[in-house]
Amino acid sequence: MHKVDTDAALSRLMRFLAVEGVTGKEARIGKELAAAFREVGVPAKAIRFDEAHKRIPLPTESGNLIVDLPGKGALKSADRLLFMTHMDTVPLCAGAQPKKQGRKIVNAAKTALGGDNRTGCAVLVSLAAELIASKADHPPLTMLITVREESGLWGARHVNLDELGGVKMGFNFDGRKATGIVIGAVGADRWEVEIFGRASHAGTAPERGISATMILAEALASARADGWFGKVLKGDKAGTSNIGPVGGTGGRTAGDATNVVTDYVHAAGESRSHDLKFFREITAAYKEAFTAAAAKVANSEGKTGKVKFTSRTDYFPFLLKENAPVVKQAVAAIKAMGLAPEIRTANGGLDANWLTRHGVPTVTFGAGQHEAHTIDEWIDLDEFDTACQLAFQLATAT
Ligand SMILES: [Zn+2]
Repeated sequence: MHKVDTDAALSRLMRFLAVEGVTGKEARIGKELAAAFREVGVPAKAIRFDEAHKRIPLPTESGNLIVDLPGKGALKSADRLLFMTHMDTVPLCAGAQPKKQGRKIVNAAKTALGGDNRTGCAVLVSLAAELIASKADHPPLTMLITVREESGLWGARHVNLDELGGVKMGFNFDGRKATGIVIGAVGADRWEVEIFGRASHAGTAPERGISATMILAEALASARADGWFGKVLKGDKAGTSNIGPVGGTGGRTAGDATNVVTDYVHAAGESRSHDLKFFREITAAYKEAFTAAAAKVANSEGKTGKVKFTSRTDYFPFLLKENAPVVKQAVAAIKAMGLAPEIRTANGGLDANWLTRHGVPTVTFGAGQHEAHTIDEWIDLDEFDTACQLAFQLATAT
């Protein structure tokens, strides 16, 4: 078996970790990645950025990076494969100072490191380098490095399938274990509620007020009592929910003073499940709880508060069959390396949710990330090396 050059892969990883590129601000890392692809021999005309950033409803510096590699040898005309990862990091990574320590990469700064997902970027550029330098036969490949994954899977959501050259299946690198094959992931709703009460002097006429904060409290207490908060289990259905930011208008606090009955609260939350119907059921339960609480909190004139509840599906759940061609190829590649594949599902959304929804069944492997999104983040270089070797195996298996 051809052994990939792990020293070269490591130096690429160190190089990409050193370039800041938090979610939405990917212009610099995108350029660095494009330059790295050119340096390993990919012709400039095979490297481009799409216009996904113009379709993403949040300010985004750059489109997704797309690279085409022609097939070689006996597999020259085989079905085109997609290799993908994301280039952005969480905002906590700004200012990271990666340093190698034995078989780990750690961080000299008190920030997250960015192994999520510069490990994936280094795996893909190294795959291009290895395929160009080796004589191994391989099918035509498209590489996709998305933007704004961390802030809502936006780059993958807005990629145009036409730009991917008719790929039949996808291999995504984003996570910890290279031999863990993620074949499914949850879907999620994000929801928001505006609660309108009535202001009144809290000392002289509290009975005339309608407290929006109290409506919020009643609603959350009843959602929790009915089993809809946190880990949600109903019969054989499972999901999760959370209440996130709570505030007033324009990012201010909910309520301005202790002596005024609070007349407005804004809150946002989420619902997740592997079952599309079930996370919508969880969202509906919150809507019901807020509506019921508003009807219950009345003032001395019998008036009640009002709520305006809105929700949208952030991404859709998916689950590939274990006998799907993409899963079988993933299993075979790991076994061919003498390792044990572990098929699993994820409780967070992945770019693979969107690629699968676009019609490209996609599995996800790890590449050595640990404690991602925290200041304790580090990278396991043995796992990273395995991911680099696995990518080559996936691309060259006949
Ligand atoms: Zn990631």
